Amino acid sequence: MGCVPVVEVGPRRPGPEFLVGGAEFALEAASRGSATRMAIFDEDLAARYAGHRVVQERLPGAISNGKLQVFFQPQIDLSTGGVQGFEALVRWSCNGRFIPTPELIHAEEQNGLIMDLDRFMLSEAAQIVSKWNRTHRKRLAVSSNLSAGNMTNEDTVDFVASVLQRSGLPPELLTVEITESIELEHDPRVQSIVEQLRALGCRVSIDDFGAGYSTFRYLRDIRVDEIKIDRSLVMDIEESPSARHILESVIRMSEQLGRSTVVEGVETEGQVDLIRSFGGATAQGFFYGKPRPALDWLADTTYRPRSEPHPVPAA
Ligand code: C2E
Ligand code: MG
Ligand code: MG
Repeated sequence: MGCVPVVEVGPRRPGPEFLVGGAEFALEAASRGSATRMAIFDEDLAARYAGHRVVQERLPGAISNGKLQVFFQPQIDLSTGGVQGFEALVRWSCNGRFIPTPELIHAEEQNGLIMDLDRFMLSEAAQIVSKWNRTHRKRLAVSSNLSAGNMTNEDTVDFVASVLQRSGLPPELLTVEITESIELEHDPRVQSIVEQLRALGCRVSIDDFGAGYSTFRYLRDIRVDEIKIDRSLVMDIEESPSARHILESVIRMSEQLGRSTVVEGVETEGQVDLIRSFGGATAQGFFYGKPRPALDWLADTTYRPRSEPHPVPAA
């Protein structure tokens, strides 16, 4: 855990609470691991666990103290080469270093704070883009991620409605991204919430399509506006004919279902050329730029519009 100096990491003589918590942490690490299913609570794991505890302790104050930052990553319409909008991605800096986002999201889920985090991000992202569009006469769109907790909670619809009202963002410029999960697949509330969100006029996207295990059932049962294809379906398309065929088929399927398509994790010009030849997709990835503070990207794309490639700044 980069953010925590080692001296802060843990007690010199770990007490029972640290040991029991550490054992649970090791158990979780083992259950997330691959074939061996064994994790030894060695120095490395102890340091990660101590860092995890610090994150858990400091997170609750992070939102209220404005410590979370909204980063944007552009989405490029491949038919025009122009920036269509942005995905909002959370960043949290602790002791001057960014906590890896998957770790942060995982900790928030465990703390039950993920819903607050999502709502903070959605609200901030909508405000920022709406204000920018009004000032600069633009029609940039924004996508924000909603976790399972929000997609099974009816309040989410009222919350999104209030965000639209407060920000003044036209609903069609807001997309909420939901990631498939076992919890969501079997929860009947998801379909109703998706329908209500679409009735507000905003768009719903299935994120990380192709990374999970049962995405076709999702596609069949839940009517969404957009399919966001996971990076794992893109990364080998230049070398592997099978990977190419799979990606092309998914893009065509999305088209036939009447959904728009975003391809994530686009890193090379060769990938862009192939994706463009497969149909009318939007692309997002390091080739066009890494996530950066929202206003940096907005300023860049508004004042110096350029399609490709964009210089890649440090993450
Ligand atoms: P995601 O929503 O699928 O976001 C895309 C992730 O892929 C981002 O990672 C982005 O930095 C990374 N990425 C984009 N282009 C490329 C590329 O060309 N190559 C590679 N290797 N990676 C690329 P990030 O920012 O670390 O976020 C990870 C995940 O954390 C997100 O995946 C999303 O599931 C979650 N997340 C981020 N912000 C939020 C949030 O506000 N709420 C919720 N619930 N989840 C969030
Ligand atoms: Mg996403
Ligand atoms: Mg994704």
